[in-house]
Amino acid sequence: CGIVGYIGANDTKDVLLNGLEKLEYRGYDSAGIATLNPDGLHLFKVKGRIAALRDKVDATVQATMGIGHTRWATHGEPSEDNAHPHQSGSGRFTLVHNGVIENYYELRDQYLTDVTLVSETDTEIVVQLIEVLYQESNDVLTAFRQAMSLLKGSYAIALLDAEDADVIYVAKSKSPLLVGLGDGFNLVASDAMATLKETDTYLEIEDKEVVLVRRNEVQIQKFDGTEVVRAPFKAEIDA
Ligand code: GLU
Repeated sequence: CGIVGYIGANDTKDVLLNGLEKLEYRGYDSAGIATLNPDGLHLFKVKGRIAALRDKVDATVQATMGIGHTRWATHGEPSEDNAHPHQSGSGRFTLVHNGVIENYYELRDQYLTDVTLVSETDTEIVVQLIEVLYQESNDVLTAFRQAMSLLKGSYAIALLDAEDADVIYVAKSKSPLLVGLGDGFNLVASDAMATLKETDTYLEIEDKEVVLVRRNEVQIQKFDGTEVVRAPFKAEIDA
């Protein structure tokens, strides 16, 4: 299981697919990517290998940001419906997740009684929760932060907002996730291995932080909104 994300100037499909291939060693049963460009969000998912996902991805779709996922099923069988990325009911929010949300039944019963779920995953609860919280605050960062602070269990998460093609929202707790830094682009990955072709410079993310990854800026905050300043490090691995 693993996550890759990219936001930059170039088309994202190959960065995502190549990155997911580098994460294949972690094991998975299904995979998917979502890309976002001004004409909207494009979602591709398969049960099976990254090679099958590569075949399914429409080569004519160009986008300079996106997120990808390999899934190791914990809640719901390996299937295309249960593969990530998962979307909120309106289609506005799209999310990938590694880990296990332990309180997903409680969250569903408390916040999502009016929501029709389309997968059997603990993950879909998170993206639907973000949409419900967004309807209350009308602020995506607030909704994302609130949702993350309600989660129990383990997670590495990357979120796209179809109405904002300038940011990937990221958070983690007890599951690995790094931000890779580039010149005019930035990346997200479960393991530096996935992005060594693009960068050797990374920012560590700590548990219970929210990170806004933009093309030319990475902003780290605690759940209470306090800004965090952190120096990058160089990975010493050969690509
Ligand atoms: N618990 C989630 C699922 O079953 C994520 C699994 C993973 O880490 O790949 O879909």
